[in-house]
Amino acid sequence: MAFKQLKIIEPILKAVAAEGYTIPTPIQQQAIPLVLQRKDLLGCAQTGTGKTAAFAIPILQILHEQKPLPHGIKVLILTPTRELAIQIDESFAAYGRHTGIRHSVIFGGVSQLHQTNALKRGVDILVATPGRLLDLMNQGFINLKHLQIFVLDEADRMLDMGFIHDVKKVIAKLPAKRQTLFFSATMPPEIQKLANVLLTNPAKVEVTPPSTTVEKIDQSLYYVNKQEKPELLKHLLNDTNIKSALVFSRTKHGANKVVKILDKAGVQSAAIHGNKSQVARQKALSDFKEGKIRVLVATDIAARGIDIDELTHVFNFDLPDVPETYVHRIGRTGRAGNSGIAISFCSGDERTELRDIQKLIGLTIPLVKEHPFVANANNNNTVQPVIQRPTQQQRSFKPKRNFQSQAARNGNSSGRKYGPQRSGSR
Ligand code: AMP
Repeated sequence: MAFKQLKIIEPILKAVAAEGYTIPTPIQQQAIPLVLQRKDLLGCAQTGTGKTAAFAIPILQILHEQKPLPHGIKVLILTPTRELAIQIDESFAAYGRHTGIRHSVIFGGVSQLHQTNALKRGVDILVATPGRLLDLMNQGFINLKHLQIFVLDEADRMLDMGFIHDVKKVIAKLPAKRQTLFFSATMPPEIQKLANVLLTNPAKVEVTPPSTTVEKIDQSLYYVNKQEKPELLKHLLNDTNIKSALVFSRTKHGANKVVKILDKAGVQSAAIHGNKSQVARQKALSDFKEGKIRVLVATDIAARGIDIDELTHVFNFDLPDVPETYVHRIGRTGRAGNSGIAISFCSGDERTELRDIQKLIGLTIPLVKEHPFVANANNNNTVQPVIQRPTQQQRSFKPKRNFQSQAARNGNSSGRKYGPQRSGSR
């Protein structure tokens, strides 16, 4: 099915094509016609399924067809994190670039001046995190009485992050007559209750994320003594085929240390973690996305919700304690049917983590036996290989060495694509 068959108007079709999308993802195929019919929607879908475009495209179309547009904010998208808010706003910018529809994003942790100036100029579509939205509403900068469409994104994460009361306060201020689109990856009872209150005769769409990425990703494992991990990373980064690498560190301190060592070695890198200011995090992320820096070192929490297209390599500088986190981490690469490369370091004290990860993914991660920093047998922190009898599936696992992205094969330079879940679990 092509986007055209979903009755998308020309200016949006053109923008979507420029993004390199050819086929709507399952959630887009299901949701776009329903939203265009002005139905309320209950979407069970995670980030990575293409859900942003599933609501952004029909919303832009609905507004475009109302031109000349009435006054005021007509669409509100509420999302839990500033990273997601920025990404959603960027999606409206991309898909709506030929529509002239005005969109803006507001989130906390930064000065409000820029945001209130944009609001004063006039906004059709507002993307917001709950705290800053309430704050600016209370200050009188935002009036939602002209609202037509309300999107609640990642409702279950709102609950997890303790934002549900703020969300309810916002909902209390919305006009009763409106279209509501409600998205959540899971449906715990409290979220189901909220959906029941918010939605009128909703259509339900449900998609599972694209099949687990684990098999598509070229995974490898290096046994290395803890103190030699930075040297091994430096050594591997000498490979110029590594265009963009996301390096996961267990701690903030560890992330800073890695950046310091890489900087000394002349590898452009930056760290993102909770101790960095929002401005510093955003700058590191945009420098990385633009290719100004090659390596981004992150803790799991800081990396949550960050969507980086065209990421070729993920390094597990430290193995995660929670095995599912390994799957989330490596799923940052290998998006949209692409292959990708995930390299993990395992020191002597991480053998339990390794065993749990391999149990979860049902694979023995192929071990690179020869490298200059192979764990030294005389060292206290020596790594003992975890010996496991391979299963049939494991024996047939052949890592793909020659990574070439689908986007590159298709000649698609923008590389935005249908990817897997992108949130870390810590
Ligand atoms: P989302 O679930 O909205 O965060 O989207 C995940 C990724 O899929 C983003 O990088 C989008 O740019 C990309 N994407 C969305 N729709 C499509 C599509 N129809 N074809 C290819 N990529 C898409």
